Amino acid sequence: MGQAMKLAVIGAGVAGLAAAHRLRQTEPSIETVVWEKSRGVGGRAATRRVNGAVFDHGAQYIKGATPAIERLLRDELAHDTLVDIARPVWTFNAANQIAPGDPNQNAEPKWTYSDGLTRLAKELAQGLDIRLQTRVHHLAYRGHAYHLLDEQGSTLATVDAVLLTPPAPQTQAIIAASELPPLAQTTLVHELAKAAYRPCLTLTLGYHQPLRDRPFYALVNTDKQHPVSWLAYEQLKPGRATNSQQVLIGQMAPDWSHDHFEDELPALTTHIAELVSTLLDEDLRAPAWSDRQKWRYALPDSGADFQVLNAAQPNLFFAGDYTAGRGRVHQAIEQGWRVAQVIAHHAR
Ligand SMILES: Cc1cc2nc3c(=O)[nH]c(=O)nc-3n(C[C@H](O)[C@H](O)[C@H](O)COP(=O)(O)OP(=O)(O)OC[C@H]3O[C@@H](n4cnc5c(N)ncnc54)[C@H](O)[C@@H]3O)c2cc1C
Repeated sequence: MGQAMKLAVIGAGVAGLAAAHRLRQTEPSIETVVWEKSRGVGGRAATRRVNGAVFDHGAQYIKGATPAIERLLRDELAHDTLVDIARPVWTFNAANQIAPGDPNQNAEPKWTYSDGLTRLAKELAQGLDIRLQTRVHHLAYRGHAYHLLDEQGSTLATVDAVLLTPPAPQTQAIIAASELPPLAQTTLVHELAKAAYRPCLTLTLGYHQPLRDRPFYALVNTDKQHPVSWLAYEQLKPGRATNSQQVLIGQMAPDWSHDHFEDELPALTTHIAELVSTLLDEDLRAPAWSDRQKWRYALPDSGADFQVLNAAQPNLFFAGDYTAGRGRVHQAIEQGWRVAQVIAHHAR
């Protein structure tokens, strides 16, 4: 390509940001703009603030990081608020029996940031051109250029190349609505359909009363038979404690989430606070406040093939946790780096 490539990255989750961040370092001639539908960056590596409490209502932490990811977190990006959640994760089963977790797994660092896991996305976003609150509805490929269009069919931008990073079902909807060569479109829709996601209702419970001290930071349901799949003491993340606030995060199991997805917040709060009280054998039925997040596409159960997707149509690229086949922050970053390499190759 003779002239500088214009690239649109759709989605400012960690995969899209990691790709744009890497390309900015290695291919500064590429003109990259990131398009994000929500008000902030981070996607599912998300942080919310309610009543003075800071909590991560999507991904909880980064664990199992590779040396390259450790370097990114500990050296490359600002790390003054990077913290390891030292206290371990324990387990529970359908009968509410709590037991110590795997010591090997608990020996690994669990990275987050004292000011919220979105700090990671904010650091990756430094220096990038990001357009927030702009949903790309579909693309039109005309004369070797891609037009990015909104829901009304108005053109947001015209570029040489596009990288799509929303979860596979949302990417599939964009591709299905797009104007693309039919063969490529069919291949892409078919491949993206292979990545199935499970939903997750996340309920955050805030208490003004002190909670009983526990030897664990969080509990994970290992027999997958409990309505709660994960319960965490958010204020045990270093730097998050406040005198007046105790915060529990409950992530509900996929089937339970599916069945209760449209429940009203008061009913949901009563139901989950009851389940949590029984699990912890402590009366936590009257939280001072609660906050709910509906993750329709929380974690991929299966993946789509990176090579198939990235070879289907010239200058149309794909990456996300689903191209790794697993919902993990560090793997989504690595997929972003992987696609950045493919894009750099095409740009030269
Ligand atoms: C409840 C929950 C708990 C989790 N726990 C952990 C954990 O403890 N540890 C861990 O490592 N991982 C965890 N994960 C998984 C991890 O959060 C994801 O794998 C990772 O953040 C995915 O990043 P991504 O960039 O691929 O996708 P996303 O973060 O989903 O980013 C995609 C972005 O695209 C945007 N977008 C979508 N459609 C459009 C559009 N049409 N136009 C413009 N923008 C659009 C979205 O708003 C979003 O910002 C968890 C996830 C959830 C939901």
